[in-house]
Amino acid sequence: MFETLLLNFLFLLVPVVIFLIFFENRPYASHGKVLVLLSAVSMILCISMPIQLSIGFIVDLRYIPFLIVALYGGYRNVFLLYIILNLYRLYVGGEGTMQSFLFSTTMMVIVPYYSAKFLKLSSKGRILWAAIASFLTTGFYLLTLSFAKGALNKQFWILVLNALTTYVIFMVILMILIEKIIANMKNRDRIMQSERLKVVSELAASVSHEIRNPLTVTSGFLQLLNKSKTIGPEEMQYVELSLQELKRAEKIVSDYLSFAKPQSENMVYSDMSTELEYTKNVIMPYASIHKVRVEFHFNNSLQKHYDRNQVQQCLINLYKNGIEAMRDKGGGTLSIDISEKKQNIVIRIQDTGVGMTREEISRLGKPYYSTKEEGTGLGMLMVYSTVDKLKGFIEVESEKGKGTTFLITIPT
Ligand code: ADP
Ligand code: MG
Repeated sequence: MFETLLLNFLFLLVPVVIFLIFFENRPYASHGKVLVLLSAVSMILCISMPIQLSIGFIVDLRYIPFLIVALYGGYRNVFLLYIILNLYRLYVGGEGTMQSFLFSTTMMVIVPYYSAKFLKLSSKGRILWAAIASFLTTGFYLLTLSFAKGALNKQFWILVLNALTTYVIFMVILMILIEKIIANMKNRDRIMQSERLKVVSELAASVSHEIRNPLTVTSGFLQLLNKSKTIGPEEMQYVELSLQELKRAEKIVSDYLSFAKPQSENMVYSDMSTELEYTKNVIMPYASIHKVRVEFHFNNSLQKHYDRNQVQQCLINLYKNGIEAMRDKGGGTLSIDISEKKQNIVIRIQDTGVGMTREEISRLGKPYYSTKEEGTGLGMLMVYSTVDKLKGFIEVESEKGKGTTFLITIPT
């Protein structure tokens, strides 16, 4: 029996190992499907080689991958698994098919309901709750089994004890592995992002400075030329166009310059209320042009050292993106909230705009990533770089078509 147990454990490890070797570096969007299919393989293997117990019962570990997919993936992902499970179970046939069907249906309906809550928990919380979920579901399964067989003798209770411990222990081991993999992936992304920022800001600071001077000189002379009376209307148009393009170049350069190191003359020790007030005035006209209602809330007493210009720029970038996301929807509400939570300043910027897919969220903050015609793709990079310098972090929640929430946590 011990051999079969180990074999089953190996089946559970198969998706983890294969995922790590072959799929970890693929885009996040493809992970869901791959994991569901790998879990299906693992489940089929578990059903094919169940653990035969001395008293005639068989148990297998098929519900571990099922539970994990239900908890992490919600209804959409587990449904496919549910179908595969029942088709295969039907194919295998034999005693208990109906029971298995009823039980998996119950689980399919109940467990994914808690998926959203589960995903919001901390890593430790998820491990704990997955363990509890496996305990409860296995307990429930054995209970129904006992009713069906009506064999409530001592041997049955030994079986219950064994099955429960096996399920819970295997679940915990798997969950620790999964959570560790998730943490590693997140860490790697963070390190990559911070490397990118370093390169960009160093390059930007040096190049932008050098380019700014010639730009200013050229645009000065062009402005003089613009006033000259000797050039014709056609030339005048060329000059106008050149000036416009120069202005654009200047804007890009100043976007880049905002990555530069914090300047000592801008450093303040404050609670961000001044910045909120200032950026509010800057953004209001832009919001009203696009029929966006803006709500401000401020409830923070914590203070922090920061570069005033950078924080202002960062807030403005976020507001602008929010408003631009609502532009095509013909308006909406932008709600901005600065508050405190356990020694952290929490900035929350919520829009009711077009939203983003997960794939799009994962590309936020990469240089030049923009879906707008006139976009530079530097706004979010600047936001990430500023928050990074403040040792804070950014969480993004978004639903396509519904809107986006940026949650920035800055420790004080
Ligand atoms: P830009 O605004 O110049 O396009 P950003 O770096 O500010 O560059 O933003 C990058 C991209 O991220 C945008 O083009 C847009 O597709 C997406 N984005 C950023 N913020 C939001 C938001 N609040 N809602 C929807 N999409 C957003
Ligand atoms: Mg932008």
